[in-house]
Parts: sequence; C-alpha cells; structure tokens
Amino acid sequence: MIENSTDDSYIKTEIINMIQENKKDIDLKFINEVKEYYTLQDQLFSLTLQEIQAERTGETALMNQKREEVKALRKYILNRFFILRMKLRFAEKHYMTPFRKEARRRAIELLSLVNIAGPEIVVDSYPHELSGGMQQRAMIAMALASNPKMLIADEPTTALDVTTQAQILEIIKDLNQLIGMGVLFITHDLAVIAEMCDRVGVMYAGNLVEETTTTEIFNDPKHPYTVGLMNSVPRADKKREREIKLDTIPGTVPNLITPPSGCRFHPRCKFAMDICSLKKPKLVEISPQHKVACFLYSDESEVD
Ligand code: SF4
Repeated sequence: MIENSTDDSYIKTEIINMIQENKKDIDLKFINEVKEYYTLQDQLFSLTLQEIQAERTGETALMNQKREEVKALRKYILNRFFILRMKLRFAEKHYMTPFRKEARRRAIELLSLVNIAGPEIVVDSYPHELSGGMQQRAMIAMALASNPKMLIADEPTTALDVTTQAQILEIIKDLNQLIGMGVLFITHDLAVIAEMCDRVGVMYAGNLVEETTTTEIFNDPKHPYTVGLMNSVPRADKKREREIKLDTIPGTVPNLITPPSGCRFHPRCKFAMDICSLKKPKLVEISPQHKVACFLYSDESEVD
C-alpha cells in the first residue's frame, strides 16, 4: 500500500517492487510494444498537423517534406505493428462486444419506454433525422438511462406543438407512476403546472417566495407575485370573462447582478411597505402545507 502519496521516490520504489513481484504474470514485452505503437501514433498526428499548418501558410517545400515524412512513418507503423494491430483489434472485439450488445439492448428498451415507434431503427438514427418530439423523447430516454430517483425537467415542452407537448407530459406522468421516479418540473406554463404537479414552488428573482399544493396555489394564492401571475392568465371559470381586463405586473424582472434590496419584488409590488426595501422576508408557514415569504403574512422579526 502506498502510504505517502507525496513522496515521489517512495512511489517509484513501490511500483518497481510491484512489477518485480508480478513479473511472471505481466507480459512486459507486449506492454512496451503497445507503448511504442501509441508514441509513434502521436508523432504521426503531430507531423500531420505540421503538414496542414505548412499548407495553410503556403510553405510548399515544407509541406512536401512533412507529407513525405507522414507517408514514411505511416508505412513503418503499418509494417512494424501489423501483428500488434490485429491483436488489439481482436482484444477490443472480444472484450467489448458483450458490453456493446448490452448497451444497444438497453437503448432500445429505453426508447420503447418513451413510446418511440420502431426503436430498433431509431436507435441507429442521427438527431437531425428525428422530429422535435422524437428528439425530446430520446433526451428523456437518455436521462432515464441511469435509473434516476428524480428527473429534473427544465421546460421540457418548450418549442413543441400542443399535440407533442401533451404526449411528452403523458410520458413523464407514466414514468412517474411506472418506475416511481420523482419529477421536478420547471416551467412558466401555468396550465402545465395544473396538469402535472402535486406541489408548487413559486420562484421570483432566484428566491422561493411561495410553496404549497397545486390546488391551493390556484384557488388561494397569497404572495403578491403569485397573485399577479394568476390574474394575468384567462380563466374559463370566471364570470363575464370578456368584460374582465387581464392584469399585468408593472415593471420588469430585476438584474440579478445588482438585485433589489430587501424583498426582491418590492419595486413592482403594489403592497410594498417601508420594511420591504430594507429587509428580506423569511419563508413562513401560514397554514399547514402553505408557506409564503412576504411581510403581509409575517412580522418584521421574521427575516432571512
Ligand atoms: S414583502 Fe413587501 S414587497 Fe415583498 S411581496 Fe410582500 S408586500 Fe410586496
């Protein structure tokens, strides 16, 4: 065991001892041959770069010289390491084939899981050969490859048409139930939230300002920012909808390099008080399952 990893001479001695001890089992000749082969491959690469460089700068004589050197070295490598190259190729095929087969089987399995038709064909496709919806599904399949306990889906339906959007949401929902995977859904789309989520956390300028159940957030929002968001979308359940003007939240999202002091929403909040620009409200529980960070629901001592 190497006890002191900072002592170079100690490490060298240990390695030499290990090699001596295992000399009978290690084919040092083969290892040296492989080492030499890859060193020459590096030289070949470097010479090729020099040839390209000379071609770019218009140094024809140098370019021709490098070209000849590349040719000669390539020929030497092919002749000198013919057997070794065969051995390496065989070893790669022999050892890697079972892994490749398993990886392919798993990829097809995951593509089927996200409802891609003809997964055996799609598995060999390039991304540009797939539609937007198929690419999105393939991406979800990739995210599932390591059996995650939680999937973080950041705007997963952006730029998709409504039909594909509905299909993607359906897949995420199914996966949630099928493999018991939690989903953290990040979206600006309130309709998607209503459809997908059990609990909702509302963020404003990098801070969590309200957290509760989906039912509560739509029926009884508390934070002025959440209330503003809810009033900015048309609601089918409102009476005389056509006569009601949709609300907007005045101002714009702050620059987060120099965020507003205190409550970050205060420059846009119609309920702002003196304390709001001075102190940052803490996220406090106002009822079971409902938390809000706003001085309308907490006193001045509850600050972050
Ligand atoms: S803390 Fe003040 S500024 Fe912030 S949301 Fe509440 S009332 Fe508005």
